[in-house]
Parts: sequence; structure tokens; C-alpha cells
Amino acid sequence: MILFKKANSLHQWVDAQQRKGQKVGFVPTMGALHLGHISLIESSRKDNDITISSIFVNPTQFNDPKDFEKYPVTIEKDILQLEQAGCDVLFLPSVEEIYPNGTTSKQHYDLGEMETLLEGKFRPGHYQGVCQVVHRLLEIVHPDNLYLGQKDYQQCMVISRLVELMGINDKTNINICPTLRETDGLAMSSRNMRLSEAERVKAVLIFQSLSYIKDNLVAGETDTIKNKAIAMLSDEGFRVDYIEIADAKTLEPLSNWDGKKKLVALAAAFLNEVRLIDNLLLN
Ligand code: AMP
Repeated sequence: MILFKKANSLHQWVDAQQRKGQKVGFVPTMGALHLGHISLIESSRKDNDITISSIFVNPTQFNDPKDFEKYPVTIEKDILQLEQAGCDVLFLPSVEEIYPNGTTSKQHYDLGEMETLLEGKFRPGHYQGVCQVVHRLLEIVHPDNLYLGQKDYQQCMVISRLVELMGINDKTNINICPTLRETDGLAMSSRNMRLSEAERVKAVLIFQSLSYIKDNLVAGETDTIKNKAIAMLSDEGFRVDYIEIADAKTLEPLSNWDGKKKLVALAAAFLNEVRLIDNLLLN
């Protein structure tokens, strides 16, 4: 695996590969890698000649400074995992390399309702930070294929919008990969490392509350099952930011289902200090 720390060197290297007709897949991450990340590397390897991953804990997308400080860093283990997975290139930039003019962005991304719904509402500024870093990474790597996890459902929608705003939607294809789960159903996440043993056992309730919605969904009023799902978490000590049943295409929350529209259930909840998110497609 080749390691790049400088944006310019990577940019030029990718250019040279693409001129030789090599197809490039890109998997951006914040490190503390788990099998969910590795599944994205594997998808990229199947579709491309070269797979590039990046590890960068982006300060501008953390609305909570404590969350940023405590974000797990396991770089040596990450490098081993990427090598074993057959990743060809790792981009490991410093903050200065990503933000040579400082972290304050002059650009505002028009994300419409994505910014006021769900994660957008509960993490103000988060998606502007995500767009800022992904914009920069896409300019450096300009991949043919970009790999994202369904685990971050709304983020996939935001990045699709960003790719449109950047005018590169005909060059860079977005591939959304399924959420990998632990055997009990808990969605794999770097933040799971921060859970105590007791919290880890409880954490599966997020998946169970979403599964409850999926198993009990019928056409008509949906608030009753949603509220039951919220209670499943709050009764066990979670601080629930939201559980919503929403239109899978627009993320518009709904309280009455016509029995046809494609739906997704999404959850975000704190177990003490650790905020976990998950989602399930319902039909
Ligand atoms: P992160 O390091 O959390 O920023 O995630 C990097 C990429 O991995 C994002 O596209 C995530 O959606 C994806 N990802 C995170 N967790 C999982 C998972 N459990 N299964 C599949 N993809 C995931």
C-alpha cells in the first residue's frame, strides 16, 4: 500500500493513473476502522483497478468539541487492516494539508431540507463540515467511484447533493453499500469502541427499536409504533434525539403511510456520552 500525506502528490499520482486508463475507487473514512469500512474497500476493489482510502478526522464536522476530542484513533491497526484488505493507497493528511487557508469555510452549500431534518437539525453545521471536507477530498482524488455506507443514510443524500453542486455527477459515481452489523444486530461504528461493557449490551436496542417499526408497520397512522420505539430506548436510559419514519427518497418525516411509499426508519440516541445512529429501510 502506498501512503500519501500530501494532497498535491496524491492528486498528480491519481492523474497519471487515470491517464493510463486505470479506474479509481475512493473510500473516505475517519479511521478507527471496522469491518463496515472494510466492506467498502472490498466493494471498491471489485469495481476498480485502484482503491484509495483516506483517514482524516475532520474537525469541521464535529458540532460537539468533546465528541471530536474523544473520537477514537487507532492508526497503526487501521493501516494493517487496509493492507490486509488489499487497499492500494492510503491518504493520511494533516489538518493543514486539507485546510491550507484555515478551517473556516467561505463556501455555503445549499443542502435544502437536509440541513433542517434529523441529523441536520440535531447537529447544526455538521453537514456543512461534511461537504467542506468531502469537496476537498473529491478535488484531490477525483475518483471514478465513491463508496459510502448506508449506515449514514442522510450523509449519503447530502454527498449526492454535493456531487451535483460540484457538477461532477457524470464523472464520479456514488455507490451506497449496506450497513454491516455485529451478530446481535448493532450497526458497526467507530463510536462503539467508546461504549462500556454494559452500554455495549444495551446498544443493540437501537437496532431492535428500528426492527420493531419494520415488523409492525401497516398502512395508516404510524405515530403509535414510532412512539413505542422511542419508549423502548428511553425506558432503558437512552437520551433519544429522534426516531423517525420518513420518506426514503426525501427524508420527509410522515405520520400516515399510504402503504406504497418507500420508507426508512432512522434513529439517533445517546447512551451516556456516546451518540449512536442507525436506520432501516422498511419496505
Ligand atoms: P466514518 O469513518 O464513520 O466516517 O465512515 C466512513 C464510511 O464508512 C462512511 O461512508 C460510512 O457510512 C461507512 N460506514 C460506517 N459504518 C459502517 C457500517 N457499519 N457498514 C457499512 N458502512 C459503514
